Amino acid sequence: MDTDKDRTRDVVRELWPLMERLGTPLQVLDMQGRMVECNAPARALLGLEDDGRWRGRCPCPEGTDGAVHLPDILRECVQGLRDEFIQEEELTGPGGLPLSLRRCGAVLRDGRGRPLCVVASLEDRSAVRRVEVRLRHAALHDNLTGLPNRTLFMERLQSAHRLARRHDDYDFSVLFLDFDRFKLVNDSLGHRAGDEFLRTAAGRIRTCLRDVDTLARFGGDEFSVLLPDAWELREVKGVIDRIREALAEPVCFDGREFFSSVSIGVVLGSGRYHRAEDIMRDAETAMYRSKAAGKAGYALFDDGMHRQALRLLECETELRRALARDELVLHYQPIVDLATSTVDGVEALVRWQHPARGLLPPGEFVPLAEEAGLILDIDRWVLAEACRQLRAWEDAGLSGRGSVNVNLSPRFFMRAGAADDFEGIVRGSGAPAHRLKVEITESLLLDPSSDVERAIATVRSMGVSLVMDDFGTGYSSLSNLHRFPFDTIKIDRSFIARMVDSQVHGGTVRAIVGLGRTFGMDVVAEGVETPGQAEALRGLGCDRAQGWLYARAVDAARAGAMLGRRLSPGRGPSPAASQPLAVGA
Ligand code: C2E
Ligand code: MG
Ligand code: MG
Repeated sequence: MDTDKDRTRDVVRELWPLMERLGTPLQVLDMQGRMVECNAPARALLGLEDDGRWRGRCPCPEGTDGAVHLPDILRECVQGLRDEFIQEEELTGPGGLPLSLRRCGAVLRDGRGRPLCVVASLEDRSAVRRVEVRLRHAALHDNLTGLPNRTLFMERLQSAHRLARRHDDYDFSVLFLDFDRFKLVNDSLGHRAGDEFLRTAAGRIRTCLRDVDTLARFGGDEFSVLLPDAWELREVKGVIDRIREALAEPVCFDGREFFSSVSIGVVLGSGRYHRAEDIMRDAETAMYRSKAAGKAGYALFDDGMHRQALRLLECETELRRALARDELVLHYQPIVDLATSTVDGVEALVRWQHPARGLLPPGEFVPLAEEAGLILDIDRWVLAEACRQLRAWEDAGLSGRGSVNVNLSPRFFMRAGAADDFEGIVRGSGAPAHRLKVEITESLLLDPSSDVERAIATVRSMGVSLVMDDFGTGYSSLSNLHRFPFDTIKIDRSFIARMVDSQVHGGTVRAIVGLGRTFGMDVVAEGVETPGQAEALRGLGCDRAQGWLYARAVDAARAGAMLGRRLSPGRGPSPAASQPLAVGA
């Protein structure tokens, strides 16, 4: 052993003058990892005194967290398994500051191949490490609120889930939070106010939780909470109550106060789950249930919801098939000129001819299609089919008698390429564009993107008219009416239904008709069901009406037969009224 030491000492003596001259931090270690020599740069880096008392000590004190421990590496060197190594470790450097060290070592052997010592260069990686830590933080946190993001939340959820599967006496719960009416804050007060609201609300929720709980922002106004070791309703309910109380105070921004409640979906315990992702899916489902049941509440996930979610999924699959198998059909509801009672247009309304469930109205599948991202396919199909029909009516000499209205969802316009898509479909059909009217809802006006503007400009430049549908129900900003060149507004049927017996609704209808006049727009009343309503509308100077009083939506052949004809109003919305009523000459 002593001879080994002597040999090492000789070698070091030879090497040393060279090492001292180099500016790189260098170290000689014996094969047990104890320091034999450190040059001045290495001493400065490690904070070692010049007195040499560090000789014989290990450079990495017990408990440092090197990814690979130096003694293990040296053992492999002694066994002849390796000659060089790179090893990184986290130490406490001079001044008690954290020091990330990279050590590149090479083994020096004697003529018989026996290891004598290790010469290693040292590199201070602290700056790199700090950047790495910052990058990792950024990758795992939300930059608006500083909270963990979805990725980090899922990492923690997964480890909690593994733990719960291994230990019978451990479990956890998950909350899925979504603010009610947050969109309104954003839309009415702007994104800065929306951001401020989210930051404040996140801070308040955090104060309701323990240190071990994770609050994460999933994006938008969606947050999730992981409550380790809490799976009893009483306990979780306590957390929910605290959160709701904390959010009851208004948030102030620019001297204005605003309130928003939160809807919460809860999964209590993870017992039945094989995958952590399924827990989040169910917590989200429960959140939607809570919202549907009236906002500002919470809902526990139960198996009934799971069955319903499955039904929705099945329905989505079926809907994809419906598109592929051409099971959608368009029906057409006449629009009547109130002054002459003649049909001068129709609105195309989509239906699904379901092989088992019969003819389904759009309310049963359009919202689902929107959620599943299928609405674009439906919109494109509807537009193409309506144009094909318009062309057929033109060829039959009927199109001069009226136009065709088509409903397109906001999604259709909110994308790059919408303009080209629209133009391609309409031009490709050979339909007379000036006989086409596109119905959009007010929600589209909330998107100020240039894609929307460009698409609308294209629609107009082709001679297609623009109709605002369901006027009065949305964010109803009269100011928004100026943004797009509408030719027509359709008064939502909720106003028409009560216009005769409610002064408020009567007044609203009068005001909308007046507005149409002022801006030179055509006004159509939707959902006209009684002669009294038709009479009142005529008295107000409303231009057109659509509703069961005249006719329900019918297939293309019957609708074509009504174009340009006088319709004498029927008796109202009795079941018999589902047939087109007395077609006059
Ligand atoms: P909408 O565009 O406002 O269409 C008018 C709705 O009112 C139609 O319901 C129509 O059948 C119904 N209606 C007409 N007259 C009366 C009446 O006198 N009384 C009552 N109670 N209802 C009447 P439908 O066909 O169920 O459509 C509902 C909604 O579905 C439409 O509202 C529209 O928003 C959407 N939709 C319909 N077809 C399409 C389509 O092809 N594409 C897209 N994206 N959405 C569509
Ligand atoms: Mg419509
Ligand atoms: Mg409508």
